[in-house]
Amino acid sequence: MTPTPARVRFAPSPTGYFHIGGARTALFNWLYARHTGGKFILRIEDTDRKRFHSDALQDHLQGLRWLGLQWDEGPEVGGDYGPYFQSQRLHFYQEWADWLIEQGAAYRCYCTTDELNEMRDRQRATKQKVGYDRRCRWLSPAERAAREAAGKSWVVRLAVPLEGEVTFHDAIRGDITYANAQLQDAVLIKSDRWPTYHLANVIDDKMMKITHIMRGDEWLSSVPLHWHLYQAFGWRPPVWAHLPVILNPSGKGKVSKRAIQTPSGATIPVFVHEYQKMGYLSPAVVNFLTGIGWALDGETEIYDRETAIAAFDIHNIQASPGAFPTDKLEWMNGMYIRQMSTEALLSALVPFLSEQLGVEAETLGHDPRLRLLAPAIRERIKTLRDAAPLIDFIWAEDVPIPTAKDLVPRKTTPEQTRVILAAIIERLQHLCEWSEPTIETALRALVGELGVKAGQLFNPIRVAVTGKDVTPPLFVTLAAVGQDVTVQRLQRALAVLTG
Ligand code: GLU
Ligand code: ZN
Repeated sequence: MTPTPARVRFAPSPTGYFHIGGARTALFNWLYARHTGGKFILRIEDTDRKRFHSDALQDHLQGLRWLGLQWDEGPEVGGDYGPYFQSQRLHFYQEWADWLIEQGAAYRCYCTTDELNEMRDRQRATKQKVGYDRRCRWLSPAERAAREAAGKSWVVRLAVPLEGEVTFHDAIRGDITYANAQLQDAVLIKSDRWPTYHLANVIDDKMMKITHIMRGDEWLSSVPLHWHLYQAFGWRPPVWAHLPVILNPSGKGKVSKRAIQTPSGATIPVFVHEYQKMGYLSPAVVNFLTGIGWALDGETEIYDRETAIAAFDIHNIQASPGAFPTDKLEWMNGMYIRQMSTEALLSALVPFLSEQLGVEAETLGHDPRLRLLAPAIRERIKTLRDAAPLIDFIWAEDVPIPTAKDLVPRKTTPEQTRVILAAIIERLQHLCEWSEPTIETALRALVGELGVKAGQLFNPIRVAVTGKDVTPPLFVTLAAVGQDVTVQRLQRALAVLTG
């Protein structure tokens, strides 16, 4: 059965950077749009002028593109239902608010901040429920006219039914009921004539023909109010589907706006661009995020987006909260790195190495030594950032001169090591072809001839040539370092032992 094409939206407010939880919301919407052959719409809910953050928009656009979640309608791409910035749609909200007032479903409230504060103080003092007491809802036409004539400023409030209850259906959570008495006469238009989230969100979902609203669980409590708005407008609401919250790796507490708390008490970043900077691959992040609140089959962890698109459905999203297992993300990223072609790995590594080693990207891109080493470290890195410390000796001006202690392996005497090093130099110096297999053949033969253990011969070479005791596999490392430099560094080490 082919599903009806859905129109879904991701509706961030540009009040902060693109959060990894927001990315999960965007991803689920995108998956559902692709699954149904529908449209993924990006709408910018920029009506909160006080919290507006000028870099936030670009950060969201860049992050969505990095994740490969291209929107079909929205900023920079347009579409038939624009504008896609709420700040450019103010006239719609004002017109609809006026219409609601005419219908008697909303009203102007003229209360000043002082009056509202006073009201709250009194409610607290007399242990009453704190909230707007609806005094302006009951004003007579004459009282209203007087306030208008006096030029009093106003907000528009929704006249919520005082009794009864509202029951709505959520595709993930099932039926949910709220008592109307719990609701406030929420503000729809603020005194500066800008709409609140509630009004703008409902109007735009209607005007943009949104069929399914998939968003974070924290918006669930806004639904009763939205339900009344749909009712007042005489519109049929879209399907609601509130996604489960994302918990810290320990399963304790929600991931916050600023950080993820690891069980050890450390914190991990939450912004999408930080994951990019830490050296995660976008397909790995996407794969990982699909697993928070959804599962392919409960077994397969690694799958591509086509597989996820085919299987994704709102009805198999879990209602229970999902944790953010950071070690799984690392593992997954490592798996994705292993699957990369050498070309893809090289181009992914270059910007990181360039930044970390201070070598120009252009130069690195053409460096045959990197081409040799990249496949050799593929299995040893979990993020793109892990590569530099493994291979930095290639581009270092020099490596530290080893001490005798560094050079002499366990159960070997300095004199034995000296003899071994001299033999290695002799052999490598005269090697006609300098390549991984020829180096390997020469050194393995030498191990046999000298009757030593492989480690007694390989370890001093590693330390002498790279200044490290952990490196990519030895033969390819030497091939990359080059014959002259290798021999020269071995001679220097020999001098240390002879010294
Ligand atoms: N602008 C809201 C946010 O920042 C959108 C909530 C919704 O999707 O309705 O998350
Ligand atoms: Zn009032």
